[in-house]
Amino acid sequence: MSQLTRCTGFVCHEYYFWHHTGASAGPLPYGLAVQPDAHPESPATKRRLLGLLDVAGLLAKLTRIEPRLATEEELRYFHTPDYIARVEAMSKGIGGDAGELTPIGTGSFHIARLSAGGAMAAADAVMAGEVRNAYALIRPPGHHAEADRGRGFCIFANNVLVVHHLRRRHGVKRVAIVDWDVHHGNSQEGAFLQDPSVLTISLHQDNYYPPQSGALSQNGEGPGIGANINVPLPPGSGHGAYLDAWQRVVLPAVRRFRPEFIIASSGFDGSAMDPLGRNMATSETYRALARMTAALADELCGGRLLALHEGGYSTAYVPFCGLATLEEFCGIKTEFADPYLPIFSGMGGQGLQPHQKSVIDSAAALVERVPACPA
Ligand SMILES: [Zn+2]
Repeated sequence: MSQLTRCTGFVCHEYYFWHHTGASAGPLPYGLAVQPDAHPESPATKRRLLGLLDVAGLLAKLTRIEPRLATEEELRYFHTPDYIARVEAMSKGIGGDAGELTPIGTGSFHIARLSAGGAMAAADAVMAGEVRNAYALIRPPGHHAEADRGRGFCIFANNVLVVHHLRRRHGVKRVAIVDWDVHHGNSQEGAFLQDPSVLTISLHQDNYYPPQSGALSQNGEGPGIGANINVPLPPGSGHGAYLDAWQRVVLPAVRRFRPEFIIASSGFDGSAMDPLGRNMATSETYRALARMTAALADELCGGRLLALHEGGYSTAYVPFCGLATLEEFCGIKTEFADPYLPIFSGMGGQGLQPHQKSVIDSAAALVERVPACPA
C-alpha cells in the first residue's frame, strides 16, 4: 500500500444484511408461471464487498462510523406520516410490498431507519471534519423511494433525507447529488425538481427503471430549471461513455454550481457483469469516477463527499467495483487486482460510440443552464 492517504469514513452494520426481501422471480414477484427464486437485492453483494475490503486490508484503514436510527421526525423531512406508519405496521408482521417492487420483511422498518440514520451519521462525521469523505455501505438502498411509497427495492430516500439533514443540522445551503447507478435517480429528481439549491445529475441506462423516467428533457421546473440533468445512456454504454459523460457533463455542471457538499449515489449495476443492467462499466470505470469526484470535492468544498450505496447485483463483481471506489476515496491502493478486468476491458464497444456521444453532447449543452453559485 502506498500513495497519498486521507481519512475516509465508513458505515456498515450487521443489520443491513438482515433486511429480508424474500423470494421473487428476478426483480418481479413470483407466481404460478414463474418459479420462486432469490431476490436480486440480497445481502450477498454488500456482504462480499465488506469481506473484500477486509481481506484487502483496506477496512482497517477506514474510520468506522457507527450508524444510528433515523428518527420519525427525520423520516418526515420527505416521507408522509401515512407511508411511514404503513411500513412500520408491515414490518411488525411478516412484511409485504412497501409500494412498487419493494418487498420488506419482519424488522425492515428498523433496518431502513438504520440505513437512513447511517447516511446521516456519515454526513455528520464529514461536516465535523472527523473524516474528509465517507462511504456508507447501507441497505436497503434509497434512490427510487418516493414520499408516499417505496419503489425499486428502496424504502426511504436516504440521499434526500441527508440533504434535509445537512440543511437543518448544519446550515448547508447548496448540495449536489451525482448518481452513477444504472437506474434513474428519481427520488432526488422528484424531491428537488423545483429547488435551485440542490443540483441533481443522474447517469443511467436509457428508459429502464423507473419506466418513462430520467429523460434528457427533464431539466428542472419553475425556480429549479437547469438544476436537474439526466444523461440517459444507450444500453451497452461502457468505460468510454461513462468517462466522457463525467468529464463533459458532471464535472463542469458541479463546478458551475459550486456546492458545499457532494453526495454520490453509488450503484454498481452499470457493470458488465450485472444481471439487471445492460451497460458495460468495469471496476476501472468506477475507480475513475470516484477519483474525479473526490478531486472535485477537494477543489470545491474541502473534500466533503459522501457516497451512499445503492444498487449492484453481481455477487462476483460488485466487491471489485466497491474496492476500486473506496481505494480512490482514501487514496490507498491495495495489492488486490480485479481478476475480471482483462475480460471486461477488452470487450468490443468499451470506447465511446457515436450514438452515445450524441446523447452526451445534448446533456453537455445543459451545463450552461445550471444555476451558477451567487457571488
Ligand atoms: Zn440500480
